[in-house]
Amino acid sequence: MIKSIKLMGRTWTVSPNRDIAIDDNNKGQFWDRKCEILIDPTWVPQAQGEILIHEVLEALNFTLRLEMEHANITRLSNGFFAVLRDNPQLMKHIASGSRIVSEQGGRECKK
Ligand SMILES: [Zn+2]
Repeated sequence: MIKSIKLMGRTWTVSPNRDIAIDDNNKGQFWDRKCEILIDPTWVPQAQGEILIHEVLEALNFTLRLEMEHANITRLSNGFFAVLRDNPQLMKHIASGSRIVSEQGGRECKK
């Protein structure tokens, strides 16, 4: 599991923590003052990834004062997690600073 993540110029620790699992609705937590994200480690790895993305978006929602409703954070984190999971090359591309090179606009979406 990832141990830290940079978020808005600050390094946040990411840690497993069983104590946050007080019920099924509490799978993760973020602590702005401590720059800390806690993940319930009893979930399967894929769910932990979803929880991490959710807590990152919670932290951004708080830090940037976006005032998104929690249901929308959940929808966005589910969608964003799926994009990241289905496109492992995406983060490499963004980190590399490369240009988009192929011109294939105008095609229909493939399934
Ligand atoms: Zn939440």
